[in-house]
Amino acid sequence: MITCDYLIVGGGFAGLVMAERLSSELGASCLVIEQREHIGGNCHDEYDDHGVLVHKYGPHYFRTNSPRIREYLSRFTEWLSCDYKILSHSEGRFWKFPINLNTYEQIIGRDSTEAEFAAYLERVRVPIAKPANSEEVIVSQVGWELYRKFFEGYTLKQWKRHPRELDASVCGRIPIRTNRDDRYLVDEFQALPKAGYHRMFQNMLQASPGVKVLLKTDFREVLPHIKHRHLIYTGPVDLFYHHRFGHLPYRSLRFERESFTPEQLRAAGRPAISGREGFWQPAMQVNYPNDHGFTRIVEVKHATRQQTENTTIVREFPDDYQDGKVPYYPVPASDAKAIYEKYRALAEQESRVSFVGRLATYRYYNMDQVVGMALTEYEKLKTRTETGHLHRLAPKTLKIQAA
Ligand SMILES: Cc1cc2nc3c(=O)[nH]c(=O)nc-3n(C[C@H](O)[C@H](O)[C@H](O)COP(=O)(O)OP(=O)(O)OC[C@H]3O[C@@H](n4cnc5c(N)ncnc54)[C@H](O)[C@@H]3O)c2cc1C
Repeated sequence: MITCDYLIVGGGFAGLVMAERLSSELGASCLVIEQREHIGGNCHDEYDDHGVLVHKYGPHYFRTNSPRIREYLSRFTEWLSCDYKILSHSEGRFWKFPINLNTYEQIIGRDSTEAEFAAYLERVRVPIAKPANSEEVIVSQVGWELYRKFFEGYTLKQWKRHPRELDASVCGRIPIRTNRDDRYLVDEFQALPKAGYHRMFQNMLQASPGVKVLLKTDFREVLPHIKHRHLIYTGPVDLFYHHRFGHLPYRSLRFERESFTPEQLRAAGRPAISGREGFWQPAMQVNYPNDHGFTRIVEVKHATRQQTENTTIVREFPDDYQDGKVPYYPVPASDAKAIYEKYRALAEQESRVSFVGRLATYRYYNMDQVVGMALTEYEKLKTRTETGHLHRLAPKTLKIQAA
């Protein structure tokens, strides 16, 4: 039998922030159970066989408007400021994206002005007072032509659902601008951990003496053997309740990596891009809305600015979710939400379990939002401890036998 104050299921951002806070600030003992062979959840990065730092589960562009979250993470990492740039590829060429004045000029084949582009949008946009889905939110801003060129195919591939069947928030969060601002994200702080995400997570654990991590372990195998005061659950909420209201839908992904040496880049006809050697494509991310089975190709070296002649690209293929696959994205649609509401009602009644993070609350959250959620949940648990509602069970006596 293992004894700990807090049993934490999942070693992603949510689980590790909770573990660090509870251990460092409250002196609590925490056991993190993680089924993967590494910490960091979907934000994990690693060096591949060619020595290139890659984001294993898709590109993770850190950004935030919250000084609290930035300052908290800055205890564990320095930052590399980034200007995340993406392009869209269709009809055999690259288009500036997100849509801005430069994109419009590419389409009409001559110089233009903000006023002309705004007048064009005014002419083609479909007047919809309250866009109710992802198709409406885009056609109400840019009309049918640009919607079909940049959004419809990409969304269908990504979600295997028509944009009409998806919340307005899915496509609505992509900015559309009449000026030349082509930044993908608008948040005040945009940066990557300087030495990578994995190093940052390692630093968090190093700062947390009362935390032990058990990798390659499904919590269901060990739960009966762990005595704990409180459970922090960051895995899929439907799994926690044995799918009693049915399986929640998720989208999964498949990643295909391809690496290139300088010689291979030259042979592939990609000797230098904007005077820079060692890159395969002209931007960190290129979207493929209308061709191929993949949605995007990511070459994260553009953002990490790693000094290496080799490079690695990752093609990202959306995939159906089923047992054995990773549930990457909760599906933002009303039928999925209706099932989740039933699980949420159960979760709300739990007094000895906190549901934190993206899978446990069945909602797509960016990393900073998950960090914010974990910090808030920590404050709640701290108050409960201080008011005597959550007693410490095993201060500094965490004993973990071989799993
Ligand atoms: C492809 C992709 C790209 C993204 N890009 C960005 C981006 O650019 N910027 C951004 O801010 N956010 C991005 N995100 C979101 C980001 O990944 C999440 O905000 C963050 O990972 C959430 O952390 P989490 O701890 O809630 O979940 P996770 O990272 O999923 O961690 C949950 C952990 O629980 C573990 N677990 C699950 N079930 C069990 C079990 N039965 N037993 C033991 N362990 C279990 C899992 O293995 C996992 O490690 C992206 C997400 C995806 C999928």
